[in-house]
Amino acid sequence: MISHKLLLRAGFIRRVGAGIYDYLPLGYKVLKKIEKIAREEMDAQGGQELLMPAIVPAELYQETGRWGLDVLFRLKDRNDRDYSIGFTHEEVVTDIVRRDVRSYRELPLNLYQIQTKGRDEPRPRGGVVRGREFIMLDSYTFDRNWEDLDRAYDKMYVAFSRTFARCGLDTLVVEADSGAIGGKDSQEYMVIADSGEDMILVCGSCGYAANSEKCEIGERPIKKSEEELQSLELVDTPGARTIEQVTSFLKKSPKKLVKTLIYKAGDEVVAALVRGDREINEPKLMRALGVKNIEMADADTIEKLTGAEVGFAGPVGLNGARIIADREVEAMMNFVVGANKTDAHYINANIGRDLEISEYADLRVASKGDACPKCNRDLGVERGMEVGHIFKLGDIYSEGMDAKFLDDDGREKPFLMGCYGMGVSRMLAAIPEVNSDKDGMIWPVSVAPFEVVVILLNSDDDAQCSAAIRLYEELQQAGVDVLLDERDERPGVKFKDADLIGCPIQVVAGRLAGEGKVEVRTRTEKDKQEVDIDNATSRVLELRSGLYSILSDRAAMVSSIGKVD
Ligand code: ATP
Ligand code: MG
Repeated sequence: MISHKLLLRAGFIRRVGAGIYDYLPLGYKVLKKIEKIAREEMDAQGGQELLMPAIVPAELYQETGRWGLDVLFRLKDRNDRDYSIGFTHEEVVTDIVRRDVRSYRELPLNLYQIQTKGRDEPRPRGGVVRGREFIMLDSYTFDRNWEDLDRAYDKMYVAFSRTFARCGLDTLVVEADSGAIGGKDSQEYMVIADSGEDMILVCGSCGYAANSEKCEIGERPIKKSEEELQSLELVDTPGARTIEQVTSFLKKSPKKLVKTLIYKAGDEVVAALVRGDREINEPKLMRALGVKNIEMADADTIEKLTGAEVGFAGPVGLNGARIIADREVEAMMNFVVGANKTDAHYINANIGRDLEISEYADLRVASKGDACPKCNRDLGVERGMEVGHIFKLGDIYSEGMDAKFLDDDGREKPFLMGCYGMGVSRMLAAIPEVNSDKDGMIWPVSVAPFEVVVILLNSDDDAQCSAAIRLYEELQQAGVDVLLDERDERPGVKFKDADLIGCPIQVVAGRLAGEGKVEVRTRTEKDKQEVDIDNATSRVLELRSGLYSILSDRAAMVSSIGKVD
């Protein structure tokens, strides 16, 4: 990723281990500025900052069944007691609230922290984009009822939207899957970038946007093809188990094949069918089945069910499994399926004649050209990097952890919770990922390591020296975060470095200093302006406030749009 290269080259971060990084002074300055903006916005919405422990006793995660998760970094103390590095703090914060908050009078409550998290990510990536240690702002709200939770969520929506805007990040808010934990609304803040890991579906007509895990597909009338029915044939497909193997062996397009995926949903065995070139969407399958959990069936189950080795399952003559198909399958004719016989497939299978399907549902991962669930027009695809996630949890944690308060009707009720996570250290990468050029990073003034860099070209030249030092001091006095580059380096090196680290305003004390002039320019518009030294500070202040007002205008705008309906 471009941001990773630039952050390393400019000395903002340094790798210590897989997914573990130092934040070096310039990078740490950016991080602190991001944090400051986030704190201001959280506080403005009634958040109260606290700091929970980074080391969490196992019992807390055990209470909610999360102790077993693969992402946990686990450790033991000298007495053999279990702990983990906190990976998110719902349990810890719920424990605080269940002990200290008794009455509805103490609500609403919004507690947040900015803290280092540990997650044993299977695939750390892009430097600080996906670290195994990273800094997150995590906020948790506690309310009496759903209306209040909706209000708390809207406030966090504003705080997050404004924070990203003030950090110069354009974000797209997309609907997200609330996953196995349930919950209600869930939205993610995405920075659109080709290098992003998330696939987002966006409707150009009505503005619907959702990540691919969540995106529903609108229903369009089923158009059966006009093909003639061919007769069902059992064909040998020795060793061909995967879609690629089968299609290349039979010389058929994956679109003419139906994949049969065998799952276990509790005690029930389920055969889920999707077209060969599609991906199954497990959250959708769970919803269609009305279950909270599914897992891919193991080889034993599959062999018992089909009487064949893994890789040859199909719906023809399949007994003992609940068959459910993606809606698209209904229109298919003369397709290929596994024959429930090792090394064999059927070709020219047809619904109604060779197999029955009684359940259809939206089961596949949406892709480009699928119907928008809101307006039925074609969906487009973008790639995104998730920088924030806001989530109405409801009573999942409070019920599970017995966190209750006394309401004004005298009844005990579980708190209704929301949780809100912002990828603070990921933002350090997301910002230059979408804002750089061939010379280096381009930081928005609000989070740049320095707002202004004063470049002294020749430190042996008295006029240049005194001009640079004078401006440096004047700017400091005016409250500007300014860097003086008075290194004994060639001008070319200094210019290159200034562009690489990407501070938005550059002031150059060079040859013209003898005539009482310096050059002022911005990182993006390279044309220099010659300015009298006497006027240079005010020129810089003017430029700087112009840059800030662009960001604050954006913040004012984004906080009012894109809310959940
Ligand atoms: P992802 O899908 O990217 O793994 P997540 O759903 O696990 O994210 P949350 O648990 O909701 O993320 O965390 C809140 C925010 O923290 C995310 O929106 C993201 O910006 C950031 N984040 C999550 N995992 C990492 C990581 N390994 N490194 C850096 N930032 C992360
Ligand atoms: Mg994750």
